[in-house]
Amino acid sequence: MATSRTPVEVPTKRRIAVLTSGGDAPGMNGAVRAVVRMTIHRGCEAYVVHEGYDGLVCGGNMIHQMHWEDVRGWLSRGGTLIGSARCSSFRERAGRLKAARNMVLHGIDALVVCGGDGTLTGADIFRSEWPGLLRELVSTGDLTEIQIRPHATLNIVGLVGSIDNDMAGTDTTIGCYSSLNRICEAVDAVFDTASSHQRGFVVEVMGRNCGWLALMAAISTGADWLFIPEMPPRDGWEDNMCSIINRNRDRGKRRTIVIVAEGAQDRNLNKISSTAVKDVLSTRLHLDTRVTVLGHTQRGGAACAHDRWLSTLQGVEAVNAILEITPECPSPVISIRENKIARASMMEAVRQTQKATELIKAKKFEEAMSMRDPEFREYHLAYLNTTTTDHPKMALPESERLRVAIIHVGAPAGGMNPATRVAVAYCMTRGHTPIAIHNGFPGLCRHHADKPVGSVREVEWLEAENWVNEGGSEIGTNRSLPSEDMPTTAKVFDLYKFEALFIVGGFEAFTAASQLRKAREQYSAFKIPIVVLPATISNNVPGTEYSLGSDTCLNALVTFCDVIRQSASSSRRRVFVVETQGGQSGYIATMAGLSVGATAVYIPEEGIDIKMLARDIEFLRYNFASDRGANRAGKIILRNECASNTYTTQVIADIIKEEAKGRFESRAAVPGHFQQGGKPSPVDRVRALRMAIKCMQHVEGYAGKTPDEIADDDYSAAVIGVNGSQVLFSPLGGPNGLETTDTDWSRRRPKKEFWLRFQGLVDILSGRPKSDGGV
Ligand code: ATP
Repeated sequence: MATSRTPVEVPTKRRIAVLTSGGDAPGMNGAVRAVVRMTIHRGCEAYVVHEGYDGLVCGGNMIHQMHWEDVRGWLSRGGTLIGSARCSSFRERAGRLKAARNMVLHGIDALVVCGGDGTLTGADIFRSEWPGLLRELVSTGDLTEIQIRPHATLNIVGLVGSIDNDMAGTDTTIGCYSSLNRICEAVDAVFDTASSHQRGFVVEVMGRNCGWLALMAAISTGADWLFIPEMPPRDGWEDNMCSIINRNRDRGKRRTIVIVAEGAQDRNLNKISSTAVKDVLSTRLHLDTRVTVLGHTQRGGAACAHDRWLSTLQGVEAVNAILEITPECPSPVISIRENKIARASMMEAVRQTQKATELIKAKKFEEAMSMRDPEFREYHLAYLNTTTTDHPKMALPESERLRVAIIHVGAPAGGMNPATRVAVAYCMTRGHTPIAIHNGFPGLCRHHADKPVGSVREVEWLEAENWVNEGGSEIGTNRSLPSEDMPTTAKVFDLYKFEALFIVGGFEAFTAASQLRKAREQYSAFKIPIVVLPATISNNVPGTEYSLGSDTCLNALVTFCDVIRQSASSSRRRVFVVETQGGQSGYIATMAGLSVGATAVYIPEEGIDIKMLARDIEFLRYNFASDRGANRAGKIILRNECASNTYTTQVIADIIKEEAKGRFESRAAVPGHFQQGGKPSPVDRVRALRMAIKCMQHVEGYAGKTPDEIADDDYSAAVIGVNGSQVLFSPLGGPNGLETTDTDWSRRRPKKEFWLRFQGLVDILSGRPKSDGGV
């Protein structure tokens, strides 16, 4: 081991190290990749520490410099490639003393740690002790004054890598959605066999102190009953559970799913095991019931798209934060609120997380729930209100009940069915009448009073119940607009006495709502609350940064790119030009670019020109020449379908091939409708629940108002959307209406495209040269 007399080179550049600690989580590699590359981009030197805090304590070559190429291909790898460990010696000051010495010997005084609350606690202690540790090392002769002088303060930034999503202060943690993906895949598979044999399944998922995974799994799979540690069931839960399952069975449901969190318990903190739940179902209901404990499969596998872009954006932000924080700043943790990456106080987040655990132990369950993010409680309530639809207290008086029409407009997108299911269930809970319009506006117009064809009809609970995990649109969607036959549209609205309209779809859905709003002057049938829930893989609806289906699409694209890239690993020198959907919006291409680590992304907002292609081919040449080690793999260029009329996907692939002069080859790949995905992703399923309920609550607010009062209120025709850190309704019309403020009608996309700034990040992280020749 080095001693104080070990010659230490004084670094000319700032050195930033990154480590992963605690339980591994999918997405950690994406975070390390982003930290390493952003560090280099910001003119600093990047280091990694192997095996978490163990590596810091041991030093030597457990801490080493990383170069740009070293993290090539890491985005698609599961687990953590730099290793993680639970290090007991770092819990002691003596261990941290060694760690401080090793860091100084490596010239490092900036550290990004990725882990759970334990990891962040250790980091904070380390930072607060740092000056004292250095003084002690000098006093014992382990380091000299000269050695410690450049490292007077330690900057630490936290990233939360945890599948449990148990950290306060952030909506999601790196890894939690990948884990939820695994769970949903397993439960979806169990679904079929459960339905076939009319079986019950008790599925145990991870979460010792936090029920996030269990709650989201229950929402995503329409589970009949749920056990989470924060909200233990009341005494007599066995009777309640059985009566609900019995009722669901009586209504025709053929499968029973119960989700049990690992830390499930009753109100006296006695464990509720999955086997105990199974026994209740078997003995009381005589239900053929099986237990499935998902175990470590929930940790494994490649990260889903959400965790890849999240870890990338957070890794970038961690480097920016570490270079900006001053000694007086408390250490930040990088969080996400809805769609906004932000910084929060690391120790405040840890305190709240640990408080929740203490409150559960003290049986203060309501308070424990409030320590979780506000959405957690909202999701829990939403789950309860849509799983069992007869809550006498939730039912509205007769006078406030509405006839709610539900229609899908535009291309199919993952999440349309779950959103419709939730809207139907919520309507039933409140006493409204949900009416499905089949096959969009043409379906509506075909339905006349004298010759009804069944395309407008009340939805039965059972049919909607089965839409929980179905892709596409079960009620049928259509791109046609009401303007094609406004008089008939109004007639059918009158005929069925619609009192609210819920439109699920993309830009056409937005356009349809706008047309109906404008037609209120001529047709009073449209003087009802109209709300649009954006659902399109293109994510091009004004008023929102997120549309249902876009996450499902990203997952499909990421899977596609992983597979073709893998196929190139034997030949090694191959670039795939992958054509993405998205119409005139480059959102999907850009986010997929961030998620797969694309070499370049071509989008309509920027276009393609010959100089750009020449530069990119030169860059590919350099890139292939510097490929080394195990991380060699095919390269991906993503091209949005409308990026250029001339430079088509095939043309670009051909030009690259020609210009590569045999040094590498190129192929065009068009995933086409594969991008619409199969089953909706968990992100789309859970967001469908939350947003559909908000939409229903929004239209409910208009009950009892006159048609003119409704028409006079700009918010009576609105779009729900994620805007930065909030979920908001935006009016279509009026002075601040989206129709005028944020809609690029000719290009069918919002005027403000929040994600455009990520385009530059894709380039930074791939090392693609800028148009001025810089990197
Ligand atoms: P997970 O959520 O997966 O359990 P975690 O980060 O909470 O992740 P822990 O095992 O609690 O996992 O912590 C990881 C490491 O952080 C520990 O092995 C230890 O090295 C360090 N650590 C945790 N708590 C402290 C502490 N109070 N003081 C110093 N170091 C700590």
